[in-house]
Amino acid sequence: MRLSRMHINTLREAPAEAEIPSHILLLRSGMIRRLASGVYGFMPMGFRSVRKIEAIVRQEMDAKGAQEIHMSAIQPAELWKESGRWYVMGPEMWRVKDRREREFCLGPTHEEIFTDIVRNEVSSYRQLPMNLYQIQTKYRDEARPRFGLMRAREFVMKDAYSFDRDRAGLDRSYEEMFDAYVRVFTRCGLRFRAVEADSGTMGGNASHEFQALAESGESEMVYCDACGMAATTERARTVDAPAEETAMLPAETVYTPGTRTIEEVAAYLGLATDRTIKALLFAVLGEEGAVSEYVIAFIRGDHELNMTKLINCLGVPEHAVVFAEEADIEAVTGCVCGFTGPMGLHDCRVIADSELPGQRNLCAGANKADHHIKNVNYGRDYSAAHVTDLKLIREGDPCPVCGAPVRTARGVEVGQIYKLGTKYSESLGAYYKDENMRDSPIVMGSYGIGVTRTLAAVVEQNHDADGILWPVSIAPYHVIVTIVKHGDAAQTALAERIYAALADAGAEVLLDDRDERAGVKFKDADLFGIPVRITVGKKADGDIVEYKLRREKAAVEKSSAEAVAEALRFIEAERFGPAKTGRPADVS
Ligand code: ATP
Ligand code: MG
Repeated sequence: MRLSRMHINTLREAPAEAEIPSHILLLRSGMIRRLASGVYGFMPMGFRSVRKIEAIVRQEMDAKGAQEIHMSAIQPAELWKESGRWYVMGPEMWRVKDRREREFCLGPTHEEIFTDIVRNEVSSYRQLPMNLYQIQTKYRDEARPRFGLMRAREFVMKDAYSFDRDRAGLDRSYEEMFDAYVRVFTRCGLRFRAVEADSGTMGGNASHEFQALAESGESEMVYCDACGMAATTERARTVDAPAEETAMLPAETVYTPGTRTIEEVAAYLGLATDRTIKALLFAVLGEEGAVSEYVIAFIRGDHELNMTKLINCLGVPEHAVVFAEEADIEAVTGCVCGFTGPMGLHDCRVIADSELPGQRNLCAGANKADHHIKNVNYGRDYSAAHVTDLKLIREGDPCPVCGAPVRTARGVEVGQIYKLGTKYSESLGAYYKDENMRDSPIVMGSYGIGVTRTLAAVVEQNHDADGILWPVSIAPYHVIVTIVKHGDAAQTALAERIYAALADAGAEVLLDDRDERAGVKFKDADLFGIPVRITVGKKADGDIVEYKLRREKAAVEKSSAEAVAEALRFIEAERFGPAKTGRPADVS
């Protein structure tokens, strides 16, 4: 492709809404364009890279025997009502009506649709196992679209669904998909970790997320170098502090004026925060949107609440749990906001972190303005409807598996896989007949890769101050041949020869033949992140060019033939992704 003929529109400055490098660079290089909040289009080079990620995903899915199909993004509400998720998905689901007022959604995911196909078309054990996938546009009306392609409201996902006769079959399908995901993300050039994850609204009992490591990532994970445990922080179990043997002291109400936060009361009374109890106040909304109950969660004052654990304990959708309105919860439960403690509450569900029963003589709110109670003890002074792990794990906390201190890291969730079990097959009625003609529910798994989020994650990990550093495997082009002086006959002729030789050998080449200053061309080449640059300048007469890898600082002089040969060698070595993955058996 000749740059003089290509539609490009680079920006010197990224728009103000772009905060992280991948968003800034994808916009500046003109690879993506914003249409509305969380809605992006792909321009020629960006779209080529999307296609390359899709091709890698396809190869690895096909290699596992998964079959590609393509379903509509428009999904009838009835199917979601059957599974119960029409309500569960909440405001994130993009709902539309047709001219006859029939309800539809723009699919945020496709469990219901794929289960529907299988319930209609699979009836015998002989048709199982089966894995169907698609690469398709998804819609989620995210509360906070941000970071460009990372959290968009329209994005491309590869979603696969496995259908097995039994749990053992599901375990095998899950392992295969896990393996395919490792290969996909490795070939895309990502540094990532697979971590245990919560299954959220998807249901099921086991899940892993694939997290591309990045400081700007929205996900946090913990891992243990001693035993290999790795999980999202929302998923990770915590270890309670050892139970204390101290005798219980008499409870004592104390005057603590204006101390509404844990830090304030601890400072006022000269206590460490781990000698206090923190209260968090929520309302649970029913399907009609009215408050159905109030929930007060208690954790030790030095911890943070893990919202996912609270939501799992309540067994309601995430969107149904909101912070309580102060006046309303005070009127119903007798709490006093800022001074809420576990003693004397009524008409609310009290949930206590599993650590609290073992702790002695803590200080809690008195449910009376400007007062706290010292020496509060579980069992003697208060109890809870649920005592469960509610707290967020922190860097340095003991590993829930082996007790060694855990470490934390941030990441971008590029994929997630779920063992769904029979949740969807039972709710939608997808059964098969076994060898004895007995009906059994099909055992399912679900497997997603964020294709466009993966593109952003690759840029997030592979860039420098000047631009993107594409891995060859998903670079929009492999080589850029730059003519230093526009109109120079010798330079143009040699560049054209190199361009043709590379293209003939199957490389994807850009020829920068624009009437621009050399500095502009070099800047653009760096911004675009093309892995190899061959610069044709003053020494063109002598058949000498400069060969430079985008990842390296130094350029090397070579004859044009050597430069072509070296570029082809480099591309051949890198085009399937980092060498350690090898080449899948059925990919040529
Ligand atoms: P998140 O926790 O980031 O909201 P999720 O767990 O809801 O994601 P899944 O339902 O597991 O997402 O979807 C599968 C994959 O689709 C994710 O691993 C992610 O890579 C991608 N994805 C999900 N939401 C978005 C989004 N808003 N924009 C871009 N990609 C997304
Ligand atoms: Mg997920």
